[in-house]
Order: sequence, then C-alpha cells, then structure tokens
Amino acid sequence: VQSELKKQFSHMNNMQQQAVFCTEGPLLILAGAGSGKTTVLVNRIAYILQSELCKPWQILAITFTNKAAGELKERICNAVPEGGSDIWAATFHSTCARILRRYGDRIGFTSHFTVYGTDDQKKLVKDILKQLNYDEKMLPVKRVLNEISKAKDEMLTPQEMLKRAGYDNLKQSVAKVYEIYQSRLKTADAMDFDDMLCKTVELFQNCPDILEFYQNQFKYIMVDEYQDTNKVQYKFVSMLAAKYGNICVVGDDDQSIYKFRGATIENILSFENTFKGAKMIRLEQNYRSTQNILNAANGVISNNTMRKGKTLWTENAVGDKIEVHTSDSERDEAQFIAKTILDGVADGRKFSDFAILYRMNAQSNSIEQALSRSGIPHRVIGGRRFYDREEIRDMVAYLQVINNPHDDVRLGRIINVPKRGIGATTLEKASEIAAGLGESIYSVIKDADVYPQLSRAATKLKSFVALIDGLMEAEQSGDYSLAELYNLILEHTDYEKYLKTEKDNPDVRIENIEELSSNIIKFEEDYAEEASLSNFLEEISLQTDIDNYDAEADSSVMMTLHSAKGLEFPVVFIAGLEEGVFPSIATMMNPDELNEERRLAYVGITRAKEKLYITKAKSRMLMGHTSYNKVSRFVNEIPPELLNYTGEKKAFASTNGFSASSSHISIGAGSKFTPNKSFNTFTKPAVKSGTVYKKGDCVFHKVFGKGMIMKTEKMGNDTMLEVAFDKAGTKTLMANFSKMEKI
Ligand code: ATP
Ligand code: MG
Repeated sequence: VQSELKKQFSHMNNMQQQAVFCTEGPLLILAGAGSGKTTVLVNRIAYILQSELCKPWQILAITFTNKAAGELKERICNAVPEGGSDIWAATFHSTCARILRRYGDRIGFTSHFTVYGTDDQKKLVKDILKQLNYDEKMLPVKRVLNEISKAKDEMLTPQEMLKRAGYDNLKQSVAKVYEIYQSRLKTADAMDFDDMLCKTVELFQNCPDILEFYQNQFKYIMVDEYQDTNKVQYKFVSMLAAKYGNICVVGDDDQSIYKFRGATIENILSFENTFKGAKMIRLEQNYRSTQNILNAANGVISNNTMRKGKTLWTENAVGDKIEVHTSDSERDEAQFIAKTILDGVADGRKFSDFAILYRMNAQSNSIEQALSRSGIPHRVIGGRRFYDREEIRDMVAYLQVINNPHDDVRLGRIINVPKRGIGATTLEKASEIAAGLGESIYSVIKDADVYPQLSRAATKLKSFVALIDGLMEAEQSGDYSLAELYNLILEHTDYEKYLKTEKDNPDVRIENIEELSSNIIKFEEDYAEEASLSNFLEEISLQTDIDNYDAEADSSVMMTLHSAKGLEFPVVFIAGLEEGVFPSIATMMNPDELNEERRLAYVGITRAKEKLYITKAKSRMLMGHTSYNKVSRFVNEIPPELLNYTGEKKAFASTNGFSASSSHISIGAGSKFTPNKSFNTFTKPAVKSGTVYKKGDCVFHKVFGKGMIMKTEKMGNDTMLEVAFDKAGTKTLMANFSKMEKI
C-alpha cells in the first residue's frame, strides 16, 4: 500500500521525494529559491495524511502569510478531500491568536482581547511620552516602538531592558516607556502584534498543562521561510515540538531579509543542536526560472560572503536576456512599465502575469498612476489600505469598543466622533483618573458623576456610555446579525450625517462605509455560526498587507520586494535599480546591511519565471527630492552577457522630427552636466499625440478591443477619455497614452 501511495509523488525529484517521505524526527530542508521547498511542504502534509500517520488537526503548518496558509489548505484539500481543512495552517500570529483566545485567561486576558495595530501603538506611546514629560524630539515615537519591538523579539522584559541600559539615559527612558506601555496594554485587555508571540510563550512557560496539551495535539510541525524566524518564534516552535520532535523547517539562508526585524540565521545554524539527530536535505534544482534569470541571481548573490554556499541549476530553457531599461525620469520609467504590460497583454499574456517590485513604498505612486492611466487593472499591496481609511477606522473602532469597552485607544478615537461635546480636556482628565486607578477609561466615565473633575461633562459622558451599553446589549442578545449591528451603529451615531456635514469627499466616504457593510455580509456568509464580532475583528487585524492580493482576479500586482517573498510571476519588473534607492541610502555604509540588501535583490530576481525587467531612471523625484543616481551595483554584479540594455538609444531612434544632437548621444546615465531642458524636449515626442477624439467616435484598442468614446475632457496637454468597450466595459484612458485607433 505504501509503495502505491508513494507513486503519487513520482513527479518530484529524488531529493524532494526523500524530504516528503522523511516524516519522523527533525528535518531541515535548506535550499535555494524556486527549488520546491514550499512544494515539498505541501506534498509532505498530503503524504502524512494519506498514510494516516495522524489526524488533520494534529498538523501545524506555519507559513509566511495568511494567503499562503489559505493556498496550502486548498492544495491539501484537493489532495486529501476529508479533513484537509482541519489542519492548522496559519502564520505565527494567527496561530498564537487562536491559542490565546482560548487560554489567554490563564495569563490575565479575556477571550475578547484587542489587537493593537501600528496606529494604536503610536497613539499609546505618544500618550505615555506626554505623561512622563518626555520630549518627542529626543525620543521619537517610531524609535521607541522599534526598540520595544526589538526587545520583544528577543523576549526582553522592561526590567531586563532597564538593566541592559546601564547608564545610558535614553535607553533608560525607553525602558520606562516600555514598562508603562505594557501595563497600559494590560488594562486595556489588548496586545500588540509582537505580544501575541511573547504572550503565547509566556502562557506555555507558566502553564505546563497547556503546553502539554498542544505538544500532544501537534504531532507534526512544519515551518516555511524558516530563515526569517526570530528568537521568540523559534522558542515557540521548539517548545511545541519538544514532545514528538517531528519538526520540519524549510528555508534559504540567501533569502533572509528580515534581520532588521530580529530574524536570525542562528536559527538555521543551531537547528541541528536544538533538535538532536536532525537530518538535512538540500535541493539544488530550480524549477521556476530560466537559466538566464537564475544565472543573474547567482551572479549577484555570489558577492555575499559568509554564505552556506549553494549551487542552483535548472533544466529550464535559457530564455530571454534580462532587459535593463533606462528612462529619463521616474514617470517615464512608470510609462515604460505600463507600455510593456500592454504590449505583453496584446501578445496574449494576462495582466496577472506581471508583477512590479520596488524597494520603497514611495516608489509605487508614479507607477500606479501610469497603470491607472493606461487602464491596466492592478493592485497595490501595502498601499493605502481599505482598513486604514479614516471613516473605516472610525466604524471599526465602534465595533472594537462594543467588543471590548476597556480598549482605551479605540474609545478615545470615537468618544467625540461624531461630535458630542466631549472635548480633549475631558478625555485627558478621564484618562488621568483611569491611570491612577489602574482602570480603563470606560470604567471611569461609567461613574462620571463620582469624580468632581468630570462633573461638567458628566451628562454627556453618561449618554455616551448609554449608547455603547445599548449597542453592547444588542450584540450580546444574539438577536442581531453582525450586519444589523453595524446598521444600528450607523443609525444611533448618525455617522453618515456627520460625514456629509463635517468631512470632505463625503460621497466617497459613504461608499466606503457601505463597502465595509458588504465585507461584513460576506464574512457572515463565509463563517456562518462562527461569524462572531470578535472573529470579524480578528480577521481584520490579522490581514497583513499581502493578503489584499487576490490571485484570482486578472490584474497586475505592485508590491515591495519584501512582500514578494515566496511568490512567483511569469514577468517581473524590479524598478529603481539605482544607488541610493536599491541599495537604499541607509544601507550603503554598513557591510552587513548591504549584504541583506543583496539578498533582497536575490529574492527579487528569483521571483521571475520567464522574463525579468530591471528599470532605472536618470533623474528621480522621490519623497519630494529629485536625485540623479548611478546605476545600482547589483546590476553590475550580473554577468554582462546576460543583459540587454534598452531605453536610452531606443529613445533617440523613435524621436520623429527631432534630430538628436551628437552631444545627447554621448550623455551617460546620471551625468550632472546634462541640461534638464533638452531631456524634456526629447522625451515629449515619444508620446503619441495628435489624434483628436470626440464623443461617439468608434475606436479600436490593442488590448480592450472595439469601443465607443462616451466622454472627453481636456486635462492639461492631454485629454481624458471615457470609452465603453464592447467586451472590456467602460474604461478611463488618457488620449496620448492609450493605444487606440479610430475606426
Ligand atoms: P522560494 O524559495 O521562492 O520560496 P520554493 O523553494 O518554495 O521557492 P516552490 O515555490 O515550491 O519553490 O517551487 C517553485 C516552482 O517550481 C513552482 O512553480 C513549483 O510548482 C515548481 N516545482 C517544484 N518542484 C517541481 C518538480 N519536481 N517538477 C516540476 N516543477 C516543480
Ligand atoms: Mg517557498
């Protein structure tokens, strides 16, 4: 029977099969990009289940994103129809959240505890700095949070941090803030992201019975992207695996890109020490990329020292050369990307075949604009997210407070939104009383008339409490669905009226409010009985940036290089390969950081399956500054025979009616002596212009097919067109940039 079973895995190579069948004991799979690490993990789970070595809920698979976890489950469900959905496949954070919701009461949290995101954390630290009379200029909020986060990654308590600070005043102050921060979280029944891991480890340490329960439950544990685990994550898995020792971790030291977040390569190096008798398997064949792409990646990473040294090879085709495209400006770069996508789609590719990767979120702006203008459907991962919008945050805050009224940060957000005459001073006073008593603000304002400091606002405070209490009662009665509860909030707060009278763009905001309502309805459909308020809030808080990406919709994606880990795309653009952008300025002086930057380049290059574009601009406007950067050293580290340079020369060839003077041709990238004006003159003609469209014209678009102009609107030198396409629906395009012919 077993050999019949194993036949199913014969499409995998020898080493991969070994890794799949090696189910017992500790196993380290250390292998390069695209060698099938994640594939092995999925198949290994399928094999374990089919061999009936355990029940699905006895498998814990930790992945990098919730999205990856979902995919893993889906693939398992296909392979093993029964029970596949019961495996615990999740990120570190959601695994811990699940454990803490169940047993957090053993360390003093309720099952309704709130998760604080970055903005909540900032607000809290700001408050504490104020309370302690610390100067924000000396102790910037971001820096404090970074230090606290680093401490948590290393499992340092505030007391330990204080000890380590020695005579360093600044560090002592951070430790002090850290201490109050933790106690404020505790009174608010809240945790930040890092806490979820720390508190779970604390729970395991304090309650051996719970640790034992989970040790017994998880017979098989697997961790993907192991190179990016930090100390506390390592502790978490090693505690869980201590009983059965069936732990399989997969990783690639060359792809370690979160050192700045405390990830440590030590975890790979010490695996064999922690887990006695550990086996190691290396995979060396890459199945993802063409030879050229792989060789380019190898060329770059070979400049790093202290590697475990792997040689990746592939049987895939040689493939196209890597195209290095030079543009004049970041806008032209964006335009080049958009045009290349449109050409590709015209040649039969899908929009979703294309990914655009960049070092910094700020680079996304110009690219997004170019894609929008060209009518290219796209998603920006990590951009301004839906749940980050003001009105959405307000409504979510209401839901949070109804779920847990002791959540001071959310309560503070909505106590006077819409305005109900509860000013900042009143809130501050209530907050002081609360801090003094070690209670939440809500507990204090519930008895507002008891405190002389609050007497003037007592009536208003009480009516706010009545509002919240009423909504809480409605929620707890079980008579209302979540969507109905949401409507109750809108109704009783008169929130839409507030948007209409007090806010700019009320229409868009009201649309968003409605969009949230449809999210709630969808959630209720998906989760049926489990669609509780706290589960909904948890789902929101756990949505990491990358989870906004829906692979099923046909659209191109834009994201930072960090977010691209583990993913693959037929065509990849890496934008902004310039010194000072990538590698970023901050990392250029420090060899360690530069090595990490180089690993990030390696991650980026190895995302591409068939075609890789590297783009750079002679002048770049970024975050308000224009700079003229040299080409990135990473480009020069790619063997030159793999590269095909485009952009500069081509631009001259296509300048109809413009004779480039010889001085232009000799201009090197980034030359300081180039008068900007002449650059502008010669880029202009590259933009096709001249065709005049009017309403009712029939047109043919290379990608969208036949359509009719519905509306035209002059915008600067260009015209915005609304075109109703027969098949593709209505699109808004810029006349000069759209590839259309009148028919
Ligand atoms: P990364 O380091 O980027 O996370 P990885 O090692 O996890 O990569 P996978 O994503 O598992 O690699 O696999 C890369 C690609 O190779 C996928 O498209 C996968 O389907 C394919 N692949 C893996 N193993 C094989 C195989 N034996 N035969 C054919 N294709 C394979
Ligand atoms: Mg992978």
